[in-house]
Amino acid sequence: MALLPPGSIIGILGGGQLGRMLAVAAAQLGYKVHIYAPDRESVAADVAAHHTQAAWDDEPRLAAFAAHCDVVTYEFENVPVDTVRFLSGHVAVRPGVAGLEIAQDRLAEKNFVAGLGGRPAPFAAVRDRASLDAALDRIGAPAILKTVRMGYDGKGQARIMTAAEADAAWDGIDRHAAVLEGFVTFAHEFSVLLVRGIDGETRFWDSPVNVHEGGILATSTLPPPQAVRDQQDEARALMARIAEELDYAGVLTGEFFATADGPIFNEMAPRVHNSGHWTIEGAVTSQFENHIRAVAGLPLGSTDTAALPVVMHNLIGGGIETVPALLADPACHVHHYGKAEVRDGRKLGHATWVGAPPA
Ligand code: AMP
Repeated sequence: MALLPPGSIIGILGGGQLGRMLAVAAAQLGYKVHIYAPDRESVAADVAAHHTQAAWDDEPRLAAFAAHCDVVTYEFENVPVDTVRFLSGHVAVRPGVAGLEIAQDRLAEKNFVAGLGGRPAPFAAVRDRASLDAALDRIGAPAILKTVRMGYDGKGQARIMTAAEADAAWDGIDRHAAVLEGFVTFAHEFSVLLVRGIDGETRFWDSPVNVHEGGILATSTLPPPQAVRDQQDEARALMARIAEELDYAGVLTGEFFATADGPIFNEMAPRVHNSGHWTIEGAVTSQFENHIRAVAGLPLGSTDTAALPVVMHNLIGGGIETVPALLADPACHVHHYGKAEVRDGRKLGHATWVGAPPA
């Protein structure tokens, strides 16, 4: 593919903060962005040249969007696969539909990754209340019941500490099709962030150690503990195989548990990822810029870390109120997503320190 010339229009499906940061990176490279999302509020559209607010299944609006864009990507992993398939008939969509389809289905994802030699936690499909009992017999407790679809930030999940909690867990996930996962005893959580160009060139950022609170990412930090550094190569090799198998273009993220037996695959995201926000100031080329470079057919930028340590804190819910104090810290890079409503558990911004830890 020829390089996408400056002035071209990059379509982004989804209107959240990931789209916002992608749009800023696209602007830096001379592109214009067209956001397509159903929600009325779009913090991505706030910084984009064009915006279509329409439903995921509105084919006339999708066709008009496709005709307006030179290439389309997505920032939201629950964009319906049918939407991406429809658009693919009109315009190049990168990454394509394959990774999206797998990432939307926890069961398909685990089977796919296991088929490529990856090691997910022990898991069993749960279709109904009876199969939850069968799954608990097989996997044992403690375990985590996760809906097959639409789970993120710990939503659609219920912990089962003993078999007596099965009823509550099944009700807790509204009796949706699910996967029962064995509880992994891990030392740390980390992510692999890679970018793959349309020519297949693949680069990795250094893996941060990630700390979650209530199922939501709280912090990403570099350098990670030695246990993570020791397991990074095996996890990278798996993510590279996944990207190759999907003929992937763009940023792909894998989340892992560092355990005594090596890296256990948790889940993947076919998009830029919260645990890569540190790359904006902490790496030579950010995940957002390299994603845009990849989907636009440009050469990839260096993924080297700029300086250590790097610390990224999410500003979640009321945490956004610390912004004035963070702004007074000369070493802090503050990102406010510009969302109107402050809600518990909602990601409203983040803060990054590069070269020195937070005061
Ligand atoms: P997920 O949405 O699947 O990434 O889960 C959110 C968080 O819950 C993870 O980042 C872990 O902190 C925790 N978690 C998820 N699955 C497991 C598991 N099988 N064993 C232990 N902790 C888990």
